Amino acid sequence: MLEPSTSVQYVKGIGPRLAEVLAAKGIHTLDDLLHYLPFRYEDRLNPRSIPELRAGEMATVIAEVRNSGLFRTRRMPIFQMTAGQGRTRLRCIWFNAAYLRDKFTPGQMVALYGKVEQDLYGGELQLVQPQFEIIGDPGDDGSADAAEQKVAASLEVGRIVPIYESAGQGRLTPRWFRRIIHTALENLPPELPDPIPAAVRRHLGLIPPREALWNVHWPDPGESFENLHSSRTPAHIRLIFEELFFLELGLELKRRQQKAQTGIAFRLDDGVRAAIKKILPFHPTAAQKRVLKEIASDMERPFPMRRLLQGDVGSGKTIVAFEAAIIAMENGYQVALMAPTEILAQQHYFSARRILEGVGYRVVLLTGSLEDDRKREIRRHIAQGNAQLVIGTHALIEQTVGFEKLGLVIVDEQHRFGVLQRFKLMKKSDARVGTGVLARPVGRSLAAPAEPDVLVMTATPIPRTLALTLYGDLDVSVLDEMPPGRTPILTRRVSDERSDEVWQFVRKQVAAGHQAYVVYPVIEENEETELKAAIKMFKELSKRTFPDLRVGLLHGRLEPDLKDQVMRMFQKGELDILVSTTVIEVGVDVGNATVMVIEHAERFGLAQLHQLRGRIGRGAAKSYCVLMTGGKVSEDGERRLDALVRTTDGFQIAELDLELRGPGEFFGTRQAGMPNFQVANLIRDRQLLEAAKREAAAVLAGPSPEISQEEINRALRHMRNRWQRTYGLVEVG
Ligand code: ADP
Ligand code: MG
Repeated sequence: MLEPSTSVQYVKGIGPRLAEVLAAKGIHTLDDLLHYLPFRYEDRLNPRSIPELRAGEMATVIAEVRNSGLFRTRRMPIFQMTAGQGRTRLRCIWFNAAYLRDKFTPGQMVALYGKVEQDLYGGELQLVQPQFEIIGDPGDDGSADAAEQKVAASLEVGRIVPIYESAGQGRLTPRWFRRIIHTALENLPPELPDPIPAAVRRHLGLIPPREALWNVHWPDPGESFENLHSSRTPAHIRLIFEELFFLELGLELKRRQQKAQTGIAFRLDDGVRAAIKKILPFHPTAAQKRVLKEIASDMERPFPMRRLLQGDVGSGKTIVAFEAAIIAMENGYQVALMAPTEILAQQHYFSARRILEGVGYRVVLLTGSLEDDRKREIRRHIAQGNAQLVIGTHALIEQTVGFEKLGLVIVDEQHRFGVLQRFKLMKKSDARVGTGVLARPVGRSLAAPAEPDVLVMTATPIPRTLALTLYGDLDVSVLDEMPPGRTPILTRRVSDERSDEVWQFVRKQVAAGHQAYVVYPVIEENEETELKAAIKMFKELSKRTFPDLRVGLLHGRLEPDLKDQVMRMFQKGELDILVSTTVIEVGVDVGNATVMVIEHAERFGLAQLHQLRGRIGRGAAKSYCVLMTGGKVSEDGERRLDALVRTTDGFQIAELDLELRGPGEFFGTRQAGMPNFQVANLIRDRQLLEAAKREAAAVLAGPSPEISQEEINRALRHMRNRWQRTYGLVEVG
């Protein structure tokens, strides 16, 4: 009997070598193996006899290999195999399948699953491109008959058969997985304790864990294929819910723990309100007002704020962040504002100086590219409390920056960290606070340092399901309204064969006094060649197409000083056209820019295109986004471009992006700290996720007539083990 956490190499039939192959599939433990679910099920309950097959249907046929061979037609190699049941025969064909040449041996038993079709010439029925599995070798028992009998009694036929993705370049076949998983299931203890409290099980109608594992791999004969294939059998639901429940339980606990710490109770009186009013250059939108209220009331409470501010590009997050900063500064605290890049940090710095320095707040910029002397000086200002608002890159938190009295940390998170990264980031900020960055709770003992408030801002709308998982430990505010006076951006898709027309249009806009971006994709993998192409295009545009206009170039390899200079020139209107790689993606704000031409738009991700487009449409004049495409566009590419032409609603775009790319890729890289799910799928399982969150909160609310303390403790123990195993996080709990 093995523990769920036992390495798979100890499962009978695996061993260290195959364990390595499985590890590549993310299967490390027995538990992982048991949660390696079939992606499809095959109806081999009633395999068909050849004479009863009808054209047009999908059918499973168990038969014996008679002969096979490769035929080369003029167009492609076709592989044919004839299988028989007694005297009847059935031809199977695969196109372009030279790789099957040595696959079959006469006498083997095969299970075939595919579409029955009439052949082109004579009306004979055949299976076209069937999935197949060799389920018995002629040598098995000396005779094909014996093999057939043995097979009939095995896992391969006479049931609903689970089909697994194979592993190790086909070495570990579906059939192999069936045997191994079946053995593992047989070795499960007869009683598996259920870590989910009984009341929760009851609310959801969950079946016990052991039954769920058996049924998900080996469904009862009566199970509906529709439910199986949509992962909606009771067994699937149980396993999916379990995974989501323990994720949410961890996040919810984390959230409660953060709230239980000592925070700063900022005072919010008329003086502070007046100070906020003083900086506002415009009437805030209703959404900005609502969000500020949410933030302010967090700040007033004596617990640390952990809040996420979501708002589409251009929705006006910066001013809200400054308002929060004023609350802290008016209370005598310092504020750290961290941006993902130097350019963006600088932009924040310029806005902060414009908006805050005028009314007397002391703002500093601390970035890596400063001279050492200057850095030292700024650090001293920070340590002495002279600097009230410190703006920098995320390195702020890594560097040994000692604040005199840090009260609020604002993280501008255009890059979107995953939940795991953010835990680390916050932990670091905790550590900083613990070691010398002293913030003192108002009216409390000076000995206990209070946690600063944390406000995380993200520029990309996050679909609710992801927000629940990735930011489940944060409270969420949403800026869902754009400032007034914006004219919606018109987006068009144009093939690059028509670039002449596009450049003419750009010229017209510039003649009308506006500015334009031309964006060229430079993707890391091909950085060298693409950068060259971008520079070449810049030369082309500046020398040939627009020799009379002022064209600038911005890319990631430029010296930081030069980058700033170019950016500033564009901001001041000293350049008409800015040719750029994606470095302008983050937060740059030039209201006079009304055109963005994106070259090779098909190469960009949806969210990235949306972010880029958000750089225009910031002023009162109508703005235009031109998506140029060159060459053939993939199906997903088409959907991305379509979506952009259709809508500018960031939430809609985010939902579609999530659908197209899946949650892992949604955050750019797999390493973005997205929890990897064993069985759950955030798009498919939204409702279960909501239920899991609800139930997790109820469990953490404490014992009740429904849930005993003992059950809660058991669930928490299980959650901790699981988090540690799955996410390598010890600090939860
Ligand atoms: P983001 O949410 O992308 O950071 P910004 O904070 O940069 O957006 O705001 C985008 C632009 O809208 C800025 O030029 C800002 O000054 C302007 N803005 C923000 N709030 C309002 C408002 N309530 N009324 C008018 N303009 C606003
Ligand atoms: Mg911004």
